Amino acid sequence: MQNSGLNSNYKYDVLIVGAGIAGSAMAANLAKLGKKIAVVERDLRERDVIIGELLQPGGVIKLQEMGFTKFIDNIDAQPVYGYDIIYEENNYVISYPNKTGEPCGYGFRNGAFLQNMRRHILADENITVLEGSVTELLEKDNALIGARYVDKSSKEEKDLFADLTVITDGPLSSLREMLSTPEKKLNGYFMGLLLKNCEMPYSNHGHLIMGDHPPMVIYPVTSNEWRILIDFKGERPPRPGKEFKQYLKDTFENALPVSARKAFAEAVDEGKIKTFPNHRLPAKPILKQGGVILGDALNMRHPLTGGGMTAALNDVLLLCDNLKQVPDFNNKRKLGKAVEKFYATRHLGTQTTNILADGLYGVVYNPDLRKAFFEYISRGDKYAAETCSILAGLNKDKRLLLNHFIGMARYGTQMRIANSEATTEKVTQSFTMVKDAV
Ligand SMILES: Cc1cc2nc3c(=O)[nH]c(=O)nc-3n(C[C@H](O)[C@H](O)[C@H](O)COP(=O)(O)OP(=O)(O)OC[C@H]3O[C@@H](n4cnc5c(N)ncnc54)[C@H](O)[C@@H]3O)c2cc1C
Repeated sequence: MQNSGLNSNYKYDVLIVGAGIAGSAMAANLAKLGKKIAVVERDLRERDVIIGELLQPGGVIKLQEMGFTKFIDNIDAQPVYGYDIIYEENNYVISYPNKTGEPCGYGFRNGAFLQNMRRHILADENITVLEGSVTELLEKDNALIGARYVDKSSKEEKDLFADLTVITDGPLSSLREMLSTPEKKLNGYFMGLLLKNCEMPYSNHGHLIMGDHPPMVIYPVTSNEWRILIDFKGERPPRPGKEFKQYLKDTFENALPVSARKAFAEAVDEGKIKTFPNHRLPAKPILKQGGVILGDALNMRHPLTGGGMTAALNDVLLLCDNLKQVPDFNNKRKLGKAVEKFYATRHLGTQTTNILADGLYGVVYNPDLRKAFFEYISRGDKYAAETCSILAGLNKDKRLLLNHFIGMARYGTQMRIANSEATTEKVTQSFTMVKDAV
């Protein structure tokens, strides 16, 4: 899967490092402006990963705005209409807003979705897709002028030059340092298994399962598979093996809905358990002429709420909109202004998603707060609807989220925590979590 057309003296308008979710969407969208683009991706084969398998409705809207909902077609993607929140023996279903024109979310295998994007960019005559690993970024007079990569098949080192180099090499980026000040914090791991041929209490819904065990999320990824992600706190990923399999069964099997237990036990026995590190990375970009960074390379939040692809697509659309105002990418001043404006405003689209993800992760590990959270949304009405619209990435109102967060802590306090010292402590804790999460 590779198209060529490479000429080593040629200067592209744009060079994109990484054909993941952000890089592929960026290439597809920029090519519509007629820009000549090179994309370097280290591995064009379909990936088998546990990341990025639930696209929230807010992300679907971004695809619609780009005209690329076709990326969800023909991959057995499953519509998702909301979440079943399971807390100990109880559950409450929250639904995505279904006002006219507002889409649902979609669950799919990430590799299949990404191959749809890559097929599109491979077929676009404005885009040259190359398979190889970028090893370094090229600088001249303190400006970024391109990148060096090692071609996958020939093993040759080659240089590519462009007016704008876009870094989208993802969560494990090795190139982010030149364009940002990364303060990356490891937040444990997600372990992923596929539950096959089983039913969940609510078809076409995500399930968040909380209790006296690490949290689990489950959503449909094909018509007969559900992805289950289980949180694992720790500095190192869990070691697979007999003991670990027993731990999984002992700790989680009975916390699952009865209909999923057999499939879970079978998946554990089969042993196809994948792990991936969860990071928190606040966006701290550095302005550098000729370069821009986005997606997970720039900013990450806990994946509990499945907000990463929505945030990445938000970045792509915003940057492309700014770049539309620059007809000639040789105009360094205007190009720099477009990138600067992107960095200055991107938080409006991503901050609420980030706060919710990191804040909720704190809530599910605190016994009082997770009980309060469950009771709070079980009141229904705006308590469920507004929270769900924020989770969906449809409502970006940070103040509304903060109000619900504080409201939830207060509600829990009034309902159960008699001790007023504990009350103050819990509310202060939630404030701190939110402040730290931005
Ligand atoms: C466990 C987990 C579960 C998640 N679940 C969800 C979810 O359900 N929903 C959701 O919206 N988000 C989820 N996310 C987040 C989501 O996966 C990311 O936000 C999204 O993939 C970011 O896209 P990206 O393009 O920045 O990175 P990626 O999609 O990872 O793309 C990076 C690309 O760069 C390539 N690359 C890397 N280095 C180089 C190099 N040196 N040279 C050339 N190419 C290179 C890689 O091969 C890859 O193709 C999850 C994250 C984790 C950790």
